[in-house]
Amino acid sequence: MRFAHLRVEGQTTPRLAVVVNDEALFLDEVMSTPPRDLQDLIERGQEGLAEVQEVVDTALAIDADLPLVADLRHSSAVLRPAQVIAIGANYAAHASELKLRSETAMTIFSLWPNSLSGHGATTSWPEDLTTQVDYEAELGVIMGRPARNVHVREALDYVWGYTVVNDITARDLQFSEAQWSRCKSFDGFTPTGPVVVTADEIADPQDLWLTTNVDGRILQDASTSEMVRSVADIIANLSRSATIPPGTLISTGSPGGAGYSRNPQVFLHDGATVTVSIGGIGSLTTHCRVV
Ligand code: MG
Repeated sequence: MRFAHLRVEGQTTPRLAVVVNDEALFLDEVMSTPPRDLQDLIERGQEGLAEVQEVVDTALAIDADLPLVADLRHSSAVLRPAQVIAIGANYAAHASELKLRSETAMTIFSLWPNSLSGHGATTSWPEDLTTQVDYEAELGVIMGRPARNVHVREALDYVWGYTVVNDITARDLQFSEAQWSRCKSFDGFTPTGPVVVTADEIADPQDLWLTTNVDGRILQDASTSEMVRSVADIIANLSRSATIPPGTLISTGSPGGAGYSRNPQVFLHDGATVTVSIGGIGSLTTHCRVV
């Protein structure tokens, strides 16, 4: 199944919907005790998911008249995540182009929840704080149950679903400050979505294709098979020191092609449109404003 937080134009509260083909089934219209958002659904476990599958099957069976997703607004595909953990330098090409080390310990940092935004949103930043805002297409992993000391062979059993993340980064701050959380956590710097796809629909998370398109130019084009540490490796490794709670979003790093490392350099500018896509999940667009 595919889930999104959607709003009817003019409304402010996002509502959890199942996306079926191009249409949205709002769960608060068909369930007596609907989950308030994806986090709530994840916390209901397998039973909660089975209940949703039942209402979807019923709606399809009666050919219910559903709104088109294209006529709705997206909020972040994850809301209220337990935490957002990001992995840096997880593709050799990206690590070397930014002169980061990938061969020793994992690079791990937090993204602050204020940075989450949805497909089609506009992200803005002040020109007097950064002039080097860059894109990073990443596979997002959403955890389904508490993971602690998980073996790499079982690690994918703990995954609830997958999404697309753009780990937008102020490079000038990244290279002038010791920690990476702030330079990647401006308001709107972590678009996710447009949907979360449940894990059963992704046969192999190491066999997905990522692309980044800025104003019609393809600037990143790579496979998740190129990760230094696989999704299972990352989960197993993180779970050795900390319990990873359900609903945690893990952004797994970006491949080569970052704008900072191009010659000439490419940065997101006022009026730019950036779309990061992952085959089998979807395309996530962000509009850029410099203020
Ligand atoms: Mg990144």
